[in-house]
Amino acid sequence: MQIILLGAPGVGKGTQARLIMERYHIPQISTGDILRAEVKKASPLGRKVKSIMDRGELVSDDLMLQIVENRLKEPDATRGFILDGFPRTVPQADGLKNILVKLHQGNLKVIEISLPDQEIIKRLTARRVCPECGKLFNMHSDPPAAGGRCNYCGAKVIQRDDDKEETIKNRLVVYRKSTQPLIEYYREHHHFYQVNGMQEVNEVFQEIAAILGEQATVQN
Ligand code: AMP
Repeated sequence: MQIILLGAPGVGKGTQARLIMERYHIPQISTGDILRAEVKKASPLGRKVKSIMDRGELVSDDLMLQIVENRLKEPDATRGFILDGFPRTVPQADGLKNILVKLHQGNLKVIEISLPDQEIIKRLTARRVCPECGKLFNMHSDPPAAGGRCNYCGAKVIQRDDDKEETIKNRLVVYRKSTQPLIEYYREHHHFYQVNGMQEVNEVFQEIAAILGEQATVQN
């Protein structure tokens, strides 16, 4: 089961990817999480990408393809994976196609989660994340425990540097320009599905599970 979750920042890709991972036991590969871990470690890669991420711009295609190729070669990804936040440009999608041919994996399902910009801004400004376990919270609809503590691991939740309103607006501009063309790209060449993100988390997940269940039936 190889899944790409497409959609603007804040539509719920990360939340849904975690639910898919728990149900289907395939890893969530979030390129944003991989880069944030490098920034946290202050590794050479992290130092290189931090200011790009803080501005809401995209890291170079070559670098991203290298990171994803290495990650997809890890043993846990041989049975399948959920790509969250990748690809983000047409050259990344072309590069991914080549990587999957090399790894003999090519049965992609592409699921786009859609949401109006106004709702995205509302959700992202209210988004908080646990820096230890990665659990996502929304200060209005799904707040952390008392004192802003993660109700899974107890760490103090934080706001991502790029979830400030000005950066969010830039991330949406970048999304429309560089990533939205992927919708047409995948609509033409792959199993492509659209899910309305303007529903409860579980309702979105039920739609996704129906799409993935269908694939399991076809494959067996
Ligand atoms: P995300 O958590 O997916 O919203 O990613 C956070 C930031 O990491 C983005 O705004 C980009 O700066 C960078 N990033 C993550 N994935 C990619 C990608 N596939 N291509 C380029 N930059 C990326």
